[in-house]
Amino acid sequence: MQPWQDPEIDKIREKYYEFATENLLGDTEQRDKEGDFSIKRWKEVAEFGFLKLLMPENFGGAEVPVTHLVAAIEGLGEGSMDGGFNYAICNQLCGLQTTINIFGSDELKSRYLPDLMSGKSMAAYGFTEETSGSDAYSMEATAVEEGDAFRLSGTKCYITNAPYANLVLVFAKTSPTRSPFALTAFLVDMEWEGATHGREYDKMGLRTVRMGELIFDNVQVPKSHIVGVKGGGLRVLTESTLWERAILIATALGPMARGLKSCIERTKTRNQFEKPIGAFQQVSSKISNMIMRYKLSRQVIYDIASRIGNGSSLQPHAQDAAIAKIFVSDNFVKFELDAMQIYGVRGYLLESFAQQDLRDSLSFNIWAGTAETLRNTIAKLAGLPVE
Ligand SMILES: Cc1cc2nc3c(=O)[nH]c(=O)nc-3n(C[C@H](O)[C@H](O)[C@H](O)COP(=O)(O)OP(=O)(O)OC[C@H]3O[C@@H](n4cnc5c(N)ncnc54)[C@H](O)[C@@H]3O)c2cc1C
Repeated sequence: MQPWQDPEIDKIREKYYEFATENLLGDTEQRDKEGDFSIKRWKEVAEFGFLKLLMPENFGGAEVPVTHLVAAIEGLGEGSMDGGFNYAICNQLCGLQTTINIFGSDELKSRYLPDLMSGKSMAAYGFTEETSGSDAYSMEATAVEEGDAFRLSGTKCYITNAPYANLVLVFAKTSPTRSPFALTAFLVDMEWEGATHGREYDKMGLRTVRMGELIFDNVQVPKSHIVGVKGGGLRVLTESTLWERAILIATALGPMARGLKSCIERTKTRNQFEKPIGAFQQVSSKISNMIMRYKLSRQVIYDIASRIGNGSSLQPHAQDAAIAKIFVSDNFVKFELDAMQIYGVRGYLLESFAQQDLRDSLSFNIWAGTAETLRNTIAKLAGLPVE
């Protein structure tokens, strides 16, 4: 049996779907308009156990197979309509906690994972800068070694959860060269002197999570807060983005499942020219395409999730992760364009789920590697001399 056909997977998905419909519906439209994030919901989802799912049992986690996490992400996304929130909470688990689990020392894990899992603490991931987006080597943040610590300086931009995160995985240059060994990853407490929250950004989509700047001005970071090893930052960065490409991308599945049900119902009940609009082939073809996009996206994600061990490296699956990210992102956008078109003017209104999901979907080809740079990765891993 394939993992996407497994009744066990359906049970987990259903459990999270029910939780989301009971607890997470209601104010999303208003918060989407206002660009407002709900800390209350974050705590509720954490209490339900979501942030424990992939984490090791010896640090209080649930250590479930990766496919079970995908099922939980699906259920949460289908039941809640809160795309920004789901992106943010899944981002913390897939991109950040997983990275700490793989590369962090036992001291860092025992100190930080329990509060992250319980929702008491929230984390952000600080890589991007004004000068450094797709090109990690052009990063300007520096960390200078001084005895038992590093002095960290730099400004990180466009960071999810930045306005309220109290813990940040920060990447900085520990060598001025353009070399794979020039970066180091540090776990930084935002209460340390010199660490401040900067400006916020207003985004077109994923509006129910906030994005902002993080400023580090000569912050003293103990060596024990290096994640991985000095000079090993690129490896840490690559691993966390691989988990985002392969698994965080599952946040597209819930909105597609929900949108599909709604659009099928609409095409059967909305009459024009004395017929349900689903009787017109151009409309029914849209539904057929939506079903294909949704089902194949599920299969691509579950296929890769079933091949990953909990807490293990995704490096051997780097090409498949890039393929999954591009495939699901492209199909998510096309799916939501069709959903909006099926609803006509009602799909264009701010009260419609379709325009919100469409705005959310447009970011998927940007975060954790743009569609263009991921195509470079796929070709490079096939042996082409791509720069
Ligand atoms: C919703 C969202 C959440 C985010 N959250 C975070 C976060 O939490 N932490 C964080 O650090 N960052 C975050 N980011 C930033 C994200 O990591 C960057 O947007 C991404 O790395 C791309 O960098 P850039 O936007 O500066 O684009 P650029 O690198 O400036 O690229 C601009 C354009 O040029 C293309 N391009 C660049 N280089 C090449 C090349 N070699 N070949 C072909 N085309 C190329 C790109 O594909 C793109 O189309 C987030 C972004 C979004 C959209």
